[in-house]
Amino acid sequence: MNELVIILGAGESGVGAALLAKQKGFDCFVSDGGQLKNAHKAELEENGIEFEEGTHSEEKILSAALVIKSPGIPEKNELVKKIRAKGIEMISEIEWAYRYIGDSRVIAITGSNGKTTTTALTYHICKHAGLDCALVGNIGISFARQVANDPKPLYVAEISSFQLDDIVTFRPHIAILTNITEDHLDRYDYSFRNYINSKFRIALNQQSSDYFIYNADDEVTVQHIKEFPILSNPLPFSMRKELLQGAFIKEQEMTVANSDEKLQMSIYDFALKGKHNQYNTMAAGLAASVIGLRKDKIREAIQSFEALEHRMEHVATVRGIEFINDSKATNVNSTWYALESMTKPTILILGGVDKGNDYAQILDLVKEKVKAIVCMGVDNRKIHEAFQNDVSVMVNTGSAAEAVHASFQLADKGDVVLLSPACASFDLFRNYEDRGNQFKAAVREL
Ligand code: ADP
Repeated sequence: MNELVIILGAGESGVGAALLAKQKGFDCFVSDGGQLKNAHKAELEENGIEFEEGTHSEEKILSAALVIKSPGIPEKNELVKKIRAKGIEMISEIEWAYRYIGDSRVIAITGSNGKTTTTALTYHICKHAGLDCALVGNIGISFARQVANDPKPLYVAEISSFQLDDIVTFRPHIAILTNITEDHLDRYDYSFRNYINSKFRIALNQQSSDYFIYNADDEVTVQHIKEFPILSNPLPFSMRKELLQGAFIKEQEMTVANSDEKLQMSIYDFALKGKHNQYNTMAAGLAASVIGLRKDKIREAIQSFEALEHRMEHVATVRGIEFINDSKATNVNSTWYALESMTKPTILILGGVDKGNDYAQILDLVKEKVKAIVCMGVDNRKIHEAFQNDVSVMVNTGSAAEAVHASFQLADKGDVVLLSPACASFDLFRNYEDRGNQFKAAVREL
């Protein structure tokens, strides 16, 4: 009998992991405490992979040789505790996929904010330069599915800290850590230190022939590197200091310096706007230069990249009022960057599921730029407490349509309505895409 591989949780990463396990000849079984999507069920059935939903068959799970755990399942889950107690190896899907990539290489991107943008931009540059590569991880197709269906010599992967928690051998040739700010602390015993450690696991198995690209303006990252030096080649990026090795922006000009080659480019030629995107562009540009892509190709790709949906996305201008969808801003730091880039009086739509937010971080920007806050959540108390002394107009709404209407009434010609909620969306919406789409639909109906 083959060894039994159990896949716990059947989202995109779980189904991908199952397909890979099946292909590699393991007996595999998918167990999900909730309901599977129909498309996923059909796919498992077509491939002869057994699964269960709405329950976990404990005895069977505890007889596994290996468990691949969905990043959505926390350590404190009772079943997870039992699996650990029994000493069964439990890994993430990223680790699982990595074990089957052979000589292929990985560019892995993590961080609190800017992961998806940096991953998509890096991939775009690689494709533009003609590399045979795949975009995987949180951003779309799971790493394991890609490895099973269409292996590539290079993977550009967006990796969450939850995926990193359960790696063992995963070793990206290039790791990018965009920044670290407080997020998801509910999953890390409310310890920022634990969360930082988790992010740094991206460099855990790196060696001297690998590269670690990081934000030298991010105090948390810099401090951590001082305490725990990285074994791979560190390549910083910064807007504050000139660097001989790394990337920096000075007087509106980006320099990417890696080895003797230097790429220079005006930030006005970046397709992505806003200060946060200048950081993302430096990180992606550095990765591209490390793998040896031609300067003109990198430059062209940075110019031609198209902005992603739900990230500072211009929706429409209605009667002189601009609507921006930044639904993907699910923590306070992303909202900080969104506000920072505002040049007009702003009506801010804020709220949802609080992940341990500290709103003091955006208080100064709110005072400077925000004329009204439209709360859009089931429980808005914390937002009221944080801003009631400084923002004269605050209203509560319970849907995207209500929030759009309230904002429209509060706004004057020349104002901006910014959906940048600083919270997760699960109280009122399926996910941040649903939130952004409902917002856009309501704007279009005005
Ligand atoms: P992630 O995948 O890490 O959530 P995204 O690229 O999807 O990041 O961007 C999410 C939001 O975070 C964006 O809407 C933007 O407001 C903000 N953001 C993007 N890049 C950065 C960055 N480098 N630093 C801070 N905030 C950022």
